[in-house]
Amino acid sequence: MIISMRRNATREEIDHVCDRIREFGYKVHSIEGEERVVIGAVGIGDVTPCLEALEALPYVEKAVRISAPYKFVSREFKREKSVIKVNGHAIGGDEFIVIAGPCSVENESQIMETAESVAAGGAHLLRGGAFKPRTSPYDFQGLQEEGLKLLRKAKEATGLAIVTEVMSERDVPLVAEYADVLQIGARNMQNFMLLKAVGACGRPALLKRGMSSTIKELLMSAEYIVAHGNSSVILCERGIRTFETETRNTADVAAIAALNELTHLPVVLDPSHATGKRSLVPPLSRAAVAIGADGLMVEVHPCPERAASDGAQSLTCEQFRRMMEDLRPLIALWKQARLAPAPVAR
Ligand code: PEP
Ligand code: MN
Repeated sequence: MIISMRRNATREEIDHVCDRIREFGYKVHSIEGEERVVIGAVGIGDVTPCLEALEALPYVEKAVRISAPYKFVSREFKREKSVIKVNGHAIGGDEFIVIAGPCSVENESQIMETAESVAAGGAHLLRGGAFKPRTSPYDFQGLQEEGLKLLRKAKEATGLAIVTEVMSERDVPLVAEYADVLQIGARNMQNFMLLKAVGACGRPALLKRGMSSTIKELLMSAEYIVAHGNSSVILCERGIRTFETETRNTADVAAIAALNELTHLPVVLDPSHATGKRSLVPPLSRAAVAIGADGLMVEVHPCPERAASDGAQSLTCEQFRRMMEDLRPLIALWKQARLAPAPVAR
């Protein structure tokens, strides 16, 4: 539900509306605006009696239902794009954000070299997995806390904020000590206990789309995080499973445009996992800029053929630098479009 108060409603009137919402068994989520206050609330079941009761109050202008099954994350709930501030960068704002780094943190020299070169190449955040979800139990599982410590060192050296995956609810407090953004991997997109724990932890989250998940399911998972107290959620399209075998996954580029219509949350593309091939990363990155993504998450490794995971899709440091240079004019156009007044809806 969205309840718009009449102009200059008093504190007592706003409090009364919130009390009435709670009496009906619903939760008040946000109270925004100064002159004209808008209250966001959600709950289960038929909200009609509540809407009618609220509209009968003289200081309520309008009370409307949110028709989407995902409430807080929908555009109906909030028209303007959400901007998530991380280490001085505004994700979802007027800066195209690039998150870059290795698939896995492997050792000190690997992560330091990568961090230094992606920082020099223009990345805004450093990625690197310390807890790795691997298909085979015999594959490298990540350095775990040791990896987190190395990421902290890399942050101290470069100033880049850290994005790293948390695989289990149990590890949320530990990973949150080191990470600026907690990544929830594709395989965990519907690990609801993990989503709730990340919702409660107070750190921004980067939620990757499950490889067999619909856009609606992605948004429902984001809703879990927001409903549990954390509205700083960045969505990540990383390709889905289709019949196509030429690429590791099929990049659902249209999902970015669809998400921009359906949600106010920022959306980034991961061209590395979407394609599985480093040669396809730069062209797909251009597509992300052109379609209006808020940023990219790219795998980079100083020596991809020796990478412990995902070498085939990792750019070398030099390839990353060149890609960033090639993207520069496109990003300038992206910025112009971002700063232009919103087009009238047709
Ligand atoms: C990753 O980012 O390294 C990763 C494991 O990605 P995904 O969860 O999208 O497979
Ligand atoms: Mn990877």
